[in-house]
Amino acid sequence: MGLSEYQSKRDFARTTEPSGEPNGTRADGDALAFVVHKHASSHLHYDFRLEWDGVLKSWAIPKGPSLDPAQKRLAVQVEDHPLEYAAFEGTIPEGEYGAGTVMIWDRGTWEPLGDPGEGFERGSLKFVLRGSRLKGGFALVRLRRRPGETRDNWLLIKERDEHASSVSDQELLAPDARSVASGRTMEEIAQDAR
Ligand code: MN
Repeated sequence: MGLSEYQSKRDFARTTEPSGEPNGTRADGDALAFVVHKHASSHLHYDFRLEWDGVLKSWAIPKGPSLDPAQKRLAVQVEDHPLEYAAFEGTIPEGEYGAGTVMIWDRGTWEPLGDPGEGFERGSLKFVLRGSRLKGGFALVRLRRRPGETRDNWLLIKERDEHASSVSDQELLAPDARSVASGRTMEEIAQDAR
């Protein structure tokens, strides 16, 4: 996919998001990074991002992730983001693409089970997350595109393991959750931008 769609949607003179100019930096040695952004744009959602092939493969999850294997969460694949986006937290100004506050809700490393290149191709990816909030096995499964759909819809599903739990969305996705990067609430991140 590359970064051209990401870059064409944004005015880097106005937003503080990274421009994604190639700089060859890798996040953390050989481990692959993952990050989940909580994003209060026109609709509150969570952005799930996996480092792969020099970019962050990205999905918007309208209802947010779940630790309950019975909850399959729709994950709409969006444009690849630059690796530096994993460190982005702040507020995208009004009028800009994705305007609203962005929090680093979770981050860590991910470990593919099997060949991820093949998994992306086939639309079936199994992996282990090592984050603060999301841990253990997960699967991403691509749904068949319906006529007229321009995005790929996937499902994010927690695997049954010792990290699976029936913790409620209210608890896992609490409105007063704090950033795992800065300890700030959404309100505090928004205030800091003013
Ligand atoms: Mn978003």
